[in-house]
Amino acid sequence: MQEWIKQLQNIVNSLDKLEEFINVSPEEKEAITSMKTKWGTTPYFASLMDPDDPACPIRMQVIPSRKEQVNCYGLQDYLIFKENRAVGEKRPDCIARQYQDRIAFTVTDICANYCRHCFRKELVVDQELSLRFDLNEGLDWIREHTEVRDVLITGGDPFILSDDKLDRIITELRRIPHVEMIRFGTRTPIVLPQRITPELMEILGDFHRIPIWINTQCNHPVEITQQTAEAVFNLLKCGVNVGNQAVLLKGINDDVDTFRLLHQKLLSVRIRPYYLFYCEAAPGIDHFRTTVEKGSELIRDALRGHTTGLAQPMYVIATNIGKIPLMPDYYFQEKTDKEYILKNYKGQTTTLPLISE
Ligand SMILES: *Cc1c(COP(=O)(O)O)cnc(C)c1O
Ligand code: SF4
Repeated sequence: MQEWIKQLQNIVNSLDKLEEFINVSPEEKEAITSMKTKWGTTPYFASLMDPDDPACPIRMQVIPSRKEQVNCYGLQDYLIFKENRAVGEKRPDCIARQYQDRIAFTVTDICANYCRHCFRKELVVDQELSLRFDLNEGLDWIREHTEVRDVLITGGDPFILSDDKLDRIITELRRIPHVEMIRFGTRTPIVLPQRITPELMEILGDFHRIPIWINTQCNHPVEITQQTAEAVFNLLKCGVNVGNQAVLLKGINDDVDTFRLLHQKLLSVRIRPYYLFYCEAAPGIDHFRTTVEKGSELIRDALRGHTTGLAQPMYVIATNIGKIPLMPDYYFQEKTDKEYILKNYKGQTTTLPLISE
């Protein structure tokens, strides 16, 4: 049997199994035994946990917490609102739309890791929302909408689907003349790198008119291993670019040193930082949220100018009207009738002649 399937069959989703990896704290134990919530991770990802530290960034992303039951700021029916499911054009359940030329195609609600901070928690973790994942219905809708040139396949985690299903989705999409690119959002390079098998490489691989892009989600440097590096290299070898969509998480990556190291380490395994997401206003994840300003402060203090330009993600809030960028705003200080005054990361200023229109 393939290792990735074994990993999924042995998913760590009970107190007994978790105790094989860590010394479970009394709070963790209480939350696991009393809360009715879907949780779990791969044995691989569990093996990266710090056995003695409940504040371990992996433990915080994987193990349920009573804090999830406190909800002061989260919006009810968040996904319906966020994905514009209740308003506007009629669409199949599996199609989320915020833009004219691209859509998100949700193909499953299964994941290899049930992230405690997931903004799709209502669908994926709490399962209060159920959607119909009808591949044919989604594919038909895409065929009919000739303005859609970019299809982002998401979930859940789409790479949990069998090779056959993925092959079918990719093959069908590649037959649609107006589809110019396919994207996958998958955490498997981080939580289940074993998923990037030679068989999958065959399906994704080779030169084709329609490129495949992947964005994974890595939030802390300890999530990056030799196996991550190999999985990413294998994806690149078959022509698939790999980016990262980090989530800004309080107590996990919201300090300058961790934040810089995360982005440097991503590049060291050939993952290009794409987005940093503000942790969304979904219910039950208040305890992971920072101020909105925090993300741009971290880019200002940890990344821009301080390290490799390729390490810089775009900081965005994902909203019901699309993603809104929130980059630091110190660069542009002033404009006179003759010049612009610009500031760098060290606080030094310089000028640039102003050209009138
Ligand atoms: C995030 C998202 C996209 C893709 O946005 P990009 O900025 O192009 O990466 C497309 N559709 C929906 C519904 C999304 O949430
Ligand atoms: S892998 Fe993605 S969809 Fe699944 S729980 Fe994590 S953040 Fe949510």
